Amino acid sequence: MSAAPSAKRPAREARGGRAPESCGGDWPKRAARSYDVIVIGAGSVGTPTALFLARRGIRTLVLERAASAGQGSNKEAIGGLRATHSDPAKIRIVLRSIEIISSWQERHGQSLEWHKGGYAFAAYAREEETALKELLVTQQGLGLNIQWLDAKGLLEVIPDLNPDGLIGGTFSPDDGHASPLLAAQVFHAEAVRAGAEFRFRENVTGLMIEGGRVRGVKTDRGSYGAGVVIDAAGAWGAEIARMAGLDVPVRPDSHEGAVTEPVARFLEPMVVDIHPIDASASYYFYQHATGQVIFCITPQPSLWGFDTRETSSFLPMVARRMVRIMPRLKNLRVRRTWRGLYPMTPDGAPLAGWARDVEGFLLAVGMCGQGFMMGPGLGEMLANLVQGELSARDREMLELLSPYREFKGMEKLK
Ligand SMILES: Cc1cc2nc3c(=O)[nH]c(=O)nc-3n(C[C@H](O)[C@H](O)[C@H](O)COP(=O)(O)OP(=O)(O)OC[C@H]3O[C@@H](n4cnc5c(N)ncnc54)[C@H](O)[C@@H]3O)c2cc1C
Repeated sequence: MSAAPSAKRPAREARGGRAPESCGGDWPKRAARSYDVIVIGAGSVGTPTALFLARRGIRTLVLERAASAGQGSNKEAIGGLRATHSDPAKIRIVLRSIEIISSWQERHGQSLEWHKGGYAFAAYAREEETALKELLVTQQGLGLNIQWLDAKGLLEVIPDLNPDGLIGGTFSPDDGHASPLLAAQVFHAEAVRAGAEFRFRENVTGLMIEGGRVRGVKTDRGSYGAGVVIDAAGAWGAEIARMAGLDVPVRPDSHEGAVTEPVARFLEPMVVDIHPIDASASYYFYQHATGQVIFCITPQPSLWGFDTRETSSFLPMVARRMVRIMPRLKNLRVRRTWRGLYPMTPDGAPLAGWARDVEGFLLAVGMCGQGFMMGPGLGEMLANLVQGELSARDREMLELLSPYREFKGMEKLK
């Protein structure tokens, strides 16, 4: 059994990255089984990536230590999908994700609970208005359907917003939300149907590297050969990269979320309040089709580390934010809170591309707070990269997301 990609052999791509030239040698003879590609992590990114690889006839194995797909940060996500970012690569990737997710039910018959309610970023201070209007230039330049609405216009879209001090905001009606858990389950089932193999409850403990080339993966239960290994291990992505001798700047940063009791429909878009208050830089919330309000904050300063125990300070702080931006929320009862991890990078954009020094090792880590919304679009692009079939646009995006970039800027809508 050959370990070389059955589709077109990966070429050197993305700023000098190294794709495997040959996947031969004796490693596959020693490995229990051989594949074209091994994906580490069945999360927001790894699962759709496996789907797109398998659809192209690429023999794909996904190794996941949890018991099923989507059990890492994926299931902590509240499901927002917006193309409204400041980084052009993220804008394009999420535009493609939205196409994939919004058309899924029609094309495949399974619901991902996609709801096109739009996203609204509200401004209550002049500097927020200026920042959002500056971003509009890039966003509209890349073809996004987004506009600035004055206070009256925004209140027509979100009648319950607090009008006191409201200047206006951006509204992007084509954004929306979907279910991260349903998406993981459905992408997993489709990937299996397309020929991918998933091994759950299997912890990756090492990479097999010989002569500067990746040859396979070791787990606590066995070893598997492949000429391409994709690190899609999310907040744990730096640990996997270290197994290849690479030091990648991905750090876990914890965020809390909550869900309320269900109430009658009163809100369409995801609302993002970018006004820094107390220990939070922003607050965002939407109403699910089944009536619950689901919300999150961006802590300020960041809470670094792998601790995912809920805090007692979260609800009192967020309650003030909720009532400030939408007084009507004051009577809502919160049913549950949770805390999960953002795999953060220094500039708020993912790392995607071949490792330079380990041939065949592909990084797909550092999704920050947008891994669910980037997963399908990024997964499709990674399949193009592995297959050596990049479009000019893919190349541009990979240049921007190169693991070897200088990390000079910062995503303005983290
Ligand atoms: C409160 C909260 C709200 C959020 N809201 C949103 C949102 O609205 N929209 C959005 O797009 N994003 C949101 N996010 C961010 C999103 O959850 C992450 O960006 C995304 O899940 C990261 O995807 P990933 O595939 O990189 O990692 P994960 O989904 O965590 O997948 C990585 C997988 O790798 C596995 N793994 C790790 N190490 C190993 C190993 N050694 N062996 C085997 N398996 C391993 C893990 O078990 C995990 O399943 C939110 C996050 C939080 C915490």
